[in-house]
Amino acid sequence: MGHYDHLGYGGEGSMYKGPRKIHNGADDNASGTAAVLELAYYFLNNKPTEKYNYLFIAFSAEEKGLLGSQYFVQNPTIPLSELNFALNMDMVGRMEKNMDLTIEGVGSSLVWKSSLNEVDCDAFPLKLKMREDGPSDHTAFYKMGVPALHFWTGKHKDYHKPSDDIEKINFEAESQIISFIESFLLKMDDLEKVEFHLRKK
Ligand SMILES: [Zn+2]
Repeated sequence: MGHYDHLGYGGEGSMYKGPRKIHNGADDNASGTAAVLELAYYFLNNKPTEKYNYLFIAFSAEEKGLLGSQYFVQNPTIPLSELNFALNMDMVGRMEKNMDLTIEGVGSSLVWKSSLNEVDCDAFPLKLKMREDGPSDHTAFYKMGVPALHFWTGKHKDYHKPSDDIEKINFEAESQIISFIESFLLKMDDLEKVEFHLRKK
């Protein structure tokens, strides 16, 4: 999943002070939307040997408070109990040199830590964070008992500003992130159902 809405001309949620200006949201979240499309393309063309089916979703109104993803979990197109897990890509375009790939939601299942660490990855180190309920669409799934992860390259000075634009995107790193997620999904495809974990806080 990835959200495809952003802030339009700004308003609520914008960090920009100045005359009316379009907020394109190249990182937040054209980058994640592109990752959803790339993954769909990969799994469509990758001979259909996967054990599981995959649902690719782009949500709207994330910036209004996860409205799209919340609607989906209340009105799912397949029973939520049949969902094995959910992956969210929100802001995956701003990897810099020596930066980690942050993965949040690791607390939502006991299998995540070892499964993520077992994926071969020379491109970047992983920063695994337990937090399950960060401010993005995976949280709607987590709250319904679906193990959910959020991949992202972190906040930056262009966050929620018109300057979050295409020339700042690190395309090479984003493609490495997508490759990592492909490998991770193929690895998860070999495993049994991922059990949800409710962490004591
Ligand atoms: Zn976002």
